[in-house]
Amino acid sequence: MLENLTQKVTDALKSIRVNKKLTEANIELALKDVRQALLSADVHFKVVKEFIRVVQSKCVGQRIIESISARDQVIKIINDALIDLLQSESNSLENKRPLKIMMIGLHGSGKTTSAVKLARLLKTKESYKPALIACDVYRPAAIEQLETLGLRDNCIVYSDRNEKNVAKIAHDGLIETRNEGANCFIFDTAGRLQIDENLISEIQKLKNSIIPDEILLVADAALGQEAVNVAQRFHEAVTCTGIILTKLDGDARGGAALSMKSITGLPIKFMGIGEKTDAFEYFHPDRIASRILGMGDVVSLVEKAQESIDQKEAEKLAKKIEKSDFNLEDFFQQMQQIKKMGTLGSITSMMPGMSNVSIGHKEEKKMAQTEAIISSMTPYEKKTPRLLKGSRLSRVAKGSGTQVKDVNALLKQFSQMQKMMRMIQGSKGKKIINSIKGKVGDSLDKENLFTS
Ligand code: GDP
Repeated sequence: MLENLTQKVTDALKSIRVNKKLTEANIELALKDVRQALLSADVHFKVVKEFIRVVQSKCVGQRIIESISARDQVIKIINDALIDLLQSESNSLENKRPLKIMMIGLHGSGKTTSAVKLARLLKTKESYKPALIACDVYRPAAIEQLETLGLRDNCIVYSDRNEKNVAKIAHDGLIETRNEGANCFIFDTAGRLQIDENLISEIQKLKNSIIPDEILLVADAALGQEAVNVAQRFHEAVTCTGIILTKLDGDARGGAALSMKSITGLPIKFMGIGEKTDAFEYFHPDRIASRILGMGDVVSLVEKAQESIDQKEAEKLAKKIEKSDFNLEDFFQQMQQIKKMGTLGSITSMMPGMSNVSIGHKEEKKMAQTEAIISSMTPYEKKTPRLLKGSRLSRVAKGSGTQVKDVNALLKQFSQMQKMMRMIQGSKGKKIINSIKGKVGDSLDKENLFTS
């Protein structure tokens, strides 16, 4: 997610040497590169200008702290400025029961998928009983999509293929699903390829009939600035209450994410980070800022781990990491746990220093192959992977129906993971380990992750 921007910003920050003190000259040099990084990530030029102005003035006014490197100080200032850029007064939904949410957006923005993702999230995290009401009467596939995905996630879905009056569908759907016990109603409305009068007039009519608590605009982050323009025009026409930014997992350059709040004034409330219905998260400005800076998102990772990892297994893993005793057998066991947490790419992108490590969809597809390769090793080889050379390599490749280069690729991936394990053995790692054990939980001191 946002790898491109992260890469550019971290490269820009490399120009400040770790042990040099802040001077106007090195600040200016670094910020010139950061400005370039933001512009090439398609961030609105006005946003970039203001951002650099704020960071520069804070850097110059910064009290010199002897014990902290110039780079860490600038990173901290940029991190805070990024949070300010992304933060709204409230990034959460109205806390109401029943809660009526209307989803709007252009065709293809991810509206229907996000409706189901939102229902799933509100059900699992906020204990709502959500109902999805299909108000897109122009695209029959949208109704089907809502039904298939919604029912798969055990949500109530209402549709009426014989009715074309959208306000009536919404009204009937509300009554029927309320009778079924729903206390959160998500209305999936029609989209168009572009904003036009018909679309706006239909949304306005529906808005007047439903009187929603939230109108969430679904915007495709891959469209960059165009997503921001679309959001602004929808907001002017129907007064939205928030944004769902989708496809942040793809090639999104970051422009939409970083410009959206400044330009539209609307809070980003959720983000879509994949096609599956669980690839959807609350939008946390502090975590996004730390991802952009390549600092990883330790808090998200720990939360995900706590949700999915078996506690006993996690404790065993934590002990192994502490003792630098993590071998291929553990890797194999962890793969089983990790599979529950999401894609390998999404997990590594949240780890400190790992956002640029290329463990992604490809490796994901190779998961089965990886399992076969590890299973073809002897217990001793699993414990001592450096033995895997020459005839041992050929034997493992043959045994797993793969080629030597596949085995080598796996060993390389494992060595990257070992590096990461070593990396998190410092004081930051202790916190991660403790968190995995469930002893620290939310009390992670994020501040120290930047400065320690
Ligand atoms: P709608 O026309 O706005 O209702 O759009 P859909 O919900 O049908 O989504 C359009 C396409 O985008 C589908 O193929 C979705 O699977 C995909 N999609 C939606 N959200 C995301 C996301 O966050 N990440 C990725 N990679 N794909 C998404």
